[in-house]
Amino acid sequence: MTDLDIPHLDELAPFWDEIREDYQDSRNDRYDQAVRDCVALLAADPGGASAPIWTLGLVLMAPYLTWLPGEGLVSPAMAALEATDTALRDRPCAHTSHPYLRHDSEGDEYLAEQVVALADDTAEWEEDRPRDEWLCPRNVAGFARIARDIIEPGSADAIPPRLPMEAAGRIDTLAALLHGYPKPWTDIDDEISSQARNLSLAEPEDRAGHLMVVRAVAWYAVSGMVRTKSVLDDLVEALEEALPHFAGAECGHAWHPALPATGPAAAELGIMLSSRGGRGVYEGTREEDEASLEHVTCPVLMAETGEESLKLLRERRELLFGDRDTSHADAEYLRADGRLDIEKITERLDDKSWNEPYADDLGLWAARRYEGADARERPVLLLTAWQATKISYPDPPASVVRDILATLRAVAAAPRPERCGHEDEHPALRYGEFRAGLPHFYAPQEYPPAGEPLSAESWMCPRFAGTVAEEGLRALERLAAKDG
Ligand SMILES: [Zn+2]
Ligand SMILES: [Zn+2]
Ligand SMILES: [Zn+2]
Repeated sequence: MTDLDIPHLDELAPFWDEIREDYQDSRNDRYDQAVRDCVALLAADPGGASAPIWTLGLVLMAPYLTWLPGEGLVSPAMAALEATDTALRDRPCAHTSHPYLRHDSEGDEYLAEQVVALADDTAEWEEDRPRDEWLCPRNVAGFARIARDIIEPGSADAIPPRLPMEAAGRIDTLAALLHGYPKPWTDIDDEISSQARNLSLAEPEDRAGHLMVVRAVAWYAVSGMVRTKSVLDDLVEALEEALPHFAGAECGHAWHPALPATGPAAAELGIMLSSRGGRGVYEGTREEDEASLEHVTCPVLMAETGEESLKLLRERRELLFGDRDTSHADAEYLRADGRLDIEKITERLDDKSWNEPYADDLGLWAARRYEGADARERPVLLLTAWQATKISYPDPPASVVRDILATLRAVAAAPRPERCGHEDEHPALRYGEFRAGLPHFYAPQEYPPAGEPLSAESWMCPRFAGTVAEEGLRALERLAAKDG
């Protein structure tokens, strides 16, 4: 017979479970009250018969205490749990093992039901381990330490390792961001920069893990999704500071494990390995064929990995924000006689995914060439610069936007006649409409007209140029406003 007649426990336990699930809630008065009540009851009799219930209740609510609980809740909770541990951990018992020793964060999901079943010894008992092991004082002391460790990672001994709540939250946040669906409250630039900060501030034993996180967010940072140069600067700087710590390392490994190749998986591993609890979980749960902790964090591997990320970041930073070199495009888009390779250019202007890799350099090259071009080339170059910005994915980077903007602004600001000097329409501003006409306009001897051609004057009309430039400016000004 247990002496655990706790009123409304069948309502209380599910509520504790709700708090566990929705722990990322700030200053929730109902949650605060539930914690306060539970702590008071445990503190009143930390070694008493109902200590198992209040202790497990606090295990369930502990995640909330790592978030933003009301003031004055954490230290009484820690004190009551410590008192329970002290009162119960050395009580004699005949058990050879206790459930807490195999309890992990996944086990938390079933804890609320177990609490209810524990209190009612007529209830059906479906757990692996017998009820008396769960109710054993030593087991309760173990769970009190688990609750303490959740609230303050590293504050308790002799319990299974556990990933700190903060790390678990960061894994979720980065997984969402790196999958391309950041949580609505994530400040992307800040989230990425903070991984650089974490690497700079890391304790030696956490450094390898943080380096892996930086490697993971670096891929995202160079993808063109980040328009703030300082974010890349932060990552470069953090790696430059961290690498000397791994420099000159030697190891006896014949080979090194391949680190995860996708952002979310790489970030998750890195976060796991950047805390003592996470490293313990990694070692305790890894499969036979997965690398040991010592192998996966080998300083030689870390030095190589860090160098690789640093090289990538520096190269892409130059490409995205620096003075982008387009001289190679001459060989690609000019013919031997110095004229535009109009066929190739026209093909590359089709808004198809296979043209994405060329769009930025083609658009920038065209915009830079515009000023010195002749009257036949100019409409081609202007349409090229404008259309290329639409193909670029995700968007043309700052290094491209700058010069294209300058060209478009100059064209938009140039004087235009009141009226067109031609009778026909302007070319339509859609690739599908102008693709057939463009080669014939530029090289009428080489390309026969497709249907009824527009007059050359219409293609070269300053009023048409003004329209193209204004159209392009609308989109690029918006992008430029985001660049920092
Ligand atoms: Zn026992
Ligand atoms: Zn090694
Ligand atoms: Zn006109």
